[in-house]
Amino acid sequence: MDQFVAKRAKLSNFVNKLEEDRKNDSESVMKFKFNKKRVRVLTAIDKVKENCKGIVYWMFRDSRVQDNWAFLFAQKTAIKNRLPLHVCFCVLPKFLGATIRHYKFHLAALKQVELECKNLNVNFHLLRGEPNDVILKFVEKYDMGAVITDFFPLRLPLSWVDDLKKKLPEDIPLCQVDAHNIVPCWEASDKLEYSARTIRNKINSKLDEYLTQFPPVIKHPYTTKQKFTENDWENALKDVEIDKSVKEITWAKPGYEEGILELERFIEKRLKLYDSKRNDPTLNALSNLSPWFHFGMISVQRCILEVSKYKNSHKKSVESFMEEAIVRRELSDNFCFYNEHYDSLKGAKQWAVDTLDNHRKDKREYVYTLKEFENSLTHDDLWNSAQNQLLQDGKIHGFLRMYWAKKILEWTRTPEEALEWSIYLNDKYSMDGRDPSGYVGCMWSICGIHDQGWAERSIFGKIRFINYKGCQRKFDVKAFVARWGGKVHTKKK
Ligand SMILES: Cc1cc2nc3c(=O)[nH]c(=O)nc-3n(C[C@H](O)[C@H](O)[C@H](O)COP(=O)(O)OP(=O)(O)OC[C@H]3O[C@@H](n4cnc5c(N)ncnc54)[C@H](O)[C@@H]3O)c2cc1C
Repeated sequence: MDQFVAKRAKLSNFVNKLEEDRKNDSESVMKFKFNKKRVRVLTAIDKVKENCKGIVYWMFRDSRVQDNWAFLFAQKTAIKNRLPLHVCFCVLPKFLGATIRHYKFHLAALKQVELECKNLNVNFHLLRGEPNDVILKFVEKYDMGAVITDFFPLRLPLSWVDDLKKKLPEDIPLCQVDAHNIVPCWEASDKLEYSARTIRNKINSKLDEYLTQFPPVIKHPYTTKQKFTENDWENALKDVEIDKSVKEITWAKPGYEEGILELERFIEKRLKLYDSKRNDPTLNALSNLSPWFHFGMISVQRCILEVSKYKNSHKKSVESFMEEAIVRRELSDNFCFYNEHYDSLKGAKQWAVDTLDNHRKDKREYVYTLKEFENSLTHDDLWNSAQNQLLQDGKIHGFLRMYWAKKILEWTRTPEEALEWSIYLNDKYSMDGRDPSGYVGCMWSICGIHDQGWAERSIFGKIRFINYKGCQRKFDVKAFVARWGGKVHTKKK
């Protein structure tokens, strides 16, 4: 028995059941009606280069084999042209605020992707460097005939795609597939949406078309004759220029299978609580899936397909989960895709910019440095506990994330500094950071995006306010503080 098959055999029935379901639904992507609207052809030509030696799937945001529309489209293109399939992942010297905590989590999952690819006769290449150069060199050196990539609407990944598009030889097409969203970002809406209210129906009305089953990625029928260097996992992190001091987390394990097992635990134990208890940080009622979603180790679409099976027994929870995981999450991609200032005050609505400006000079009772925030040294034991959770677990409870960011606005000199520091801390420590939902979460909390104006008050102006007493009314603050050990530190003017 090969390594991959042996590993799968040991896994829970749930992982194996999904594999069976996929096979029962469709034989392969060749027998499946692939919705072309999931694909954007970015180059002038869309035909695979003649007499080439393979197709490249440049994997970046969606680090999984199955339930991945980009992988499926790449396999379809390769089989149609009777070509071998190559998956390339580029380990970057650095990526936004990612640290060793994120790199190790991601690499461990990619190692599993390599194993699964091998089992399917797909070549997996672990490359090092900036993708716009590295993928180009790979394509030229090994005579590849087309590049397919996934979709990540942040400036840096979009700029690599743009650069690669310009540099690729004219006879090689570059296609992008939105493998992260259920409704492809460009199909959900062609403009920047104002709020969840304006995008909800646009997304929900297209679910019949896009919320489909997945065909399986199958054993690839075409084998390469070319020789490639072995993937050097030992030296994968040799040249990276990242912070190596941030400790790895222990509660979440990397990879597709671990993500699916977390989904199983959510469905069995927590889904029933999701609607009524998801704003209580002392309870375990959330899905906890965001680290796996962020790295694309599991597909949100797959989770929705599975969770929806409980519509009759847990109607409200299923609806709430769909609202968060589909509407709110896809709204974040919409914001980053259509607003180039997705992480600065320039990206806020005029009413929010004006109100924050009007309150710029308001007296701040507490002003902290970045180091004080980072080391949980504020006067507020709840805030410090949330920060401790972030440092240790790489994830603050969803409700407290809002409190956490809004207090940074209250206790810094300017809204610009508050936004910069909240993004810095979120990107550095959160397992799901460096994500559209992270920029939107910070922008919502501090700059009122996707929100409305509220009663005017000091520092916040009309930006929505949350306070300690409000939290006490919602949940047992003492219990949360006892769990996470936030101390009250002497206040500093
Ligand atoms: C200041 C701040 C920072 C945030 N940073 C991030 C981040 O870096 N990455 C991130 O994925 N989310 C972020 N969020 C959104 C949200 O808090 C997290 O998605 C959620 O807490 C993840 O935990 P979960 O998977 O257990 O959530 P669940 O409640 O189980 O939700 C399931 C999924 O729905 C999506 N989702 C839930 N709430 C939101 C939301 N408000 N906006 C967009 N998508 C949502 C996520 O993909 C999540 O995994 C942030 C919110 C705030 C206020």
